[in-house]
Amino acid sequence: MTQRVAILGATGSIGDSTLALLEPNQTLPPSFEVYALSGHSRLDKLLSLCQQFRPSRVAVPEAAVSEFASRLSQCGLDIEVVGGQAGLISIVQDSAVDTVVAAIVGSAGLPSTLAAAQAGKRILLANKEALVMAGSIMMKAVKDNGATLLPIDSEHNAIFQCLPAAIQQDNTQIHQSSYGVKKLWLTASGGPFLRQSYEEMSQASVAQAVNHPNWSMGQKISIDSATMMNKGLELIEAAHLFDLPESQIEVVMHPQSIIHSMVEYSDGSYLAQLGSPDMKTPIAHALAYPERMQAPVKPLDLFDLAALEFLRPDLDKFACLRLARSAIRAGMVATISLNAANEIAVQAFIDEQVKLTDIALINERTMDKMGELSFEAPQQIEEIIEVDQRARQVALAEVAALRS
Ligand code: NAD
Ligand code: MG
Repeated sequence: MTQRVAILGATGSIGDSTLALLEPNQTLPPSFEVYALSGHSRLDKLLSLCQQFRPSRVAVPEAAVSEFASRLSQCGLDIEVVGGQAGLISIVQDSAVDTVVAAIVGSAGLPSTLAAAQAGKRILLANKEALVMAGSIMMKAVKDNGATLLPIDSEHNAIFQCLPAAIQQDNTQIHQSSYGVKKLWLTASGGPFLRQSYEEMSQASVAQAVNHPNWSMGQKISIDSATMMNKGLELIEAAHLFDLPESQIEVVMHPQSIIHSMVEYSDGSYLAQLGSPDMKTPIAHALAYPERMQAPVKPLDLFDLAALEFLRPDLDKFACLRLARSAIRAGMVATISLNAANEIAVQAFIDEQVKLTDIALINERTMDKMGELSFEAPQQIEEIIEVDQRARQVALAEVAALRS
């Protein structure tokens, strides 16, 4: 049967990797139809994707709907154009859609990802921020509505692949002692500053921070990798996806990015997933799951791998990782605040208002101040957005304070 796929964030890095797997000349089965695409700022690119993949529906920012619709019709394309968050939500709720690739970056991805869970879809999750902000609400929506959540973040996909089928189908089974899952091991490359001092890191330019040694990714996640906030967000993501406390999730630095993560079992076994650092592998896994499909990925040359290293993370240099652990323990208001502060701080770094090492400071100060405001744990998306907006104000004030 043909799977009809909606790719939200189609113009980004995950969008590129996904569409590379869905090109009509790829040797499939299984068979896929690119039913819907979305883009935000790179609308020229979105237009060429529409010409290439001929989706039935496309989502753009509200203000761009009519112009984009006329550009499509000038190209002789009959594609319905929808706008804004409401447009994204109408796509994920469309009964024709089987699979939603949630690949919008940041908190902007939350409403549509949550709506996809509520609509009972098969979700290929790249947008980790949705779980960081709304983990328990997302996981409940998945369960209550019979949705399927397949992680494509490479570490979580690796862990998923190393877990027994029963846990893959129902994450609460992880607590069954008969499956013997003891710990999850998230691997982290350490990014461009692994072997540099804190002082060197504090002088980094935006170009140096986005220059990841192993992975080619969007700007925000590349900067998050440089501060290791990305691993912190992934820790929170893993805690929700696999229903485990942070104490059962370890982070190990592995500069080669060959082992994408591991599961430790009570009998002393460690199961690992290995591969070239290429997002097409986890995306192909999730697209075809529970089967397998071909992916145009360079095979590992095992004879050429000189060594695989494993190091303990430096929590002073990479304070964002420490903050993520305390945020999980503190609960949802803290994880929302950390994510919101980080989005503000990363943008301030891109705008050259603060240093790379200020990101952790802004995040920590925002979390502390938000902790004093005694917000209740949010139960629904409106309350999440309220906490998120407040944390952004606090973080912006911290950016201003650092600049003065
Ligand atoms: P990117 O910056 O390359 O692409 C982001 C996409 O989101 C673009 O299509 C953009 O148009 C869209 N977008 C941005 N702001 C938007 C808004 N306000 N409303 C609607 N759409 C908006 O980012 P990416 O690297 O592809 O990352 C996407 C997500 O996947 C992130 O959550 C990231 O953490 C996660 N992820 C990425 C990788 C990777 O290798 N790139 C790996 C694991 C997880
Ligand atoms: Mg990752």
